[in-house]
Amino acid sequence: MDDAIFPPDEKLRPQNLDEFIGHEDLRANLRVYLQAAKERGQALDHTLFHGNPGLGKTTLAQIMAAELGVNFVSTSGPVLERSGDLAAILTNLQAHDLLFIDEIHRMPISVEEVLYPAMEDFKLDLVIGQGPAARTVKIDLEPFTLVGATTRVGLLSSPLRDRFGMLLRLEFYTPEELARIVQRTARILQTPLAEDGAQEIGRRSRGTPRIANRLLRRVRDFCSVTGTERIGKEEASRALARMDVDESGLDSMDRKLLLVLIDHYSGGPVGLKTLAVACSEDERTLEDIYEPYLIQSGFLKRTPRGRMATAKAYRHLQRMA
Ligand code: ADP
Repeated sequence: MDDAIFPPDEKLRPQNLDEFIGHEDLRANLRVYLQAAKERGQALDHTLFHGNPGLGKTTLAQIMAAELGVNFVSTSGPVLERSGDLAAILTNLQAHDLLFIDEIHRMPISVEEVLYPAMEDFKLDLVIGQGPAARTVKIDLEPFTLVGATTRVGLLSSPLRDRFGMLLRLEFYTPEELARIVQRTARILQTPLAEDGAQEIGRRSRGTPRIANRLLRRVRDFCSVTGTERIGKEEASRALARMDVDESGLDSMDRKLLLVLIDHYSGGPVGLKTLAVACSEDERTLEDIYEPYLIQSGFLKRTPRGRMATAKAYRHLQRMA
């Protein structure tokens, strides 16, 4: 397989529930729901996945379509600018197809309103014409399954959230699960990754499969350039250090954020806006990409008055509290 032909993420995606690593309970439940829908010959209930980027939401949606033997139709919230965009997609769906909307919280409200009757009754209310001559036409849709993915479930309006039959949360992965994920990826990429090398990458991947796979690819680059034949702990560690990923898996932006807090604001509390300006990063990126892992791993605290560096952050960055 060739990186130039296959987009890197696509060929690494697990194809079925057995290949999907971790999240045992969620997988077991999904298996039951999928089987029940198949046995009843009905479309699966609408499902909402929420969790940080790179934890497997798109992958699971694709697996669901494959397990159900239906088409996977994919779009995303920001792409659906007008209600007509969504109406065109909905009217083209075949019976039981799976429609995946990534970043569903970023869909404009006018588009969202088209979804309500579609999700509830498989109907579309189309407004034809403008002004006093405008009239509404009801169109029947084929029964379909909507799978939404969001990093911010709190930003979803409650009418939309309430229309999902299943709300499934994806958590960060353990280092052991991530080690298994990179071992699988290494097999696909035909990379000689040893057990201790996989563990080292797994430990430093911020709980996220997409990051684990990305780190593996870069470690592979370093090792192939230096002619390394076996990627063990030492080799992985050396390559990760050169990529500026430290012992705890923090990258330069994570460290910058914590150092700004500690060195410029005595550890906080600091508001998100100020922090974003001081780090030259936008607020959403800080909130969605960096903070969740820093909070979960105990380096950062979110308080009503703002963000604060923890004692663990001081120790890690060798600063005096
Ligand atoms: P999201 O949609 O949540 O941003 P993706 O589904 O695109 O995340 O996953 C990112 C990458 O991580 C995919 O290429 C996939 O190969 C890999 N991945 C995610 N979850 C798993 C898992 N549980 N097992 C193996 N690989 C995974």
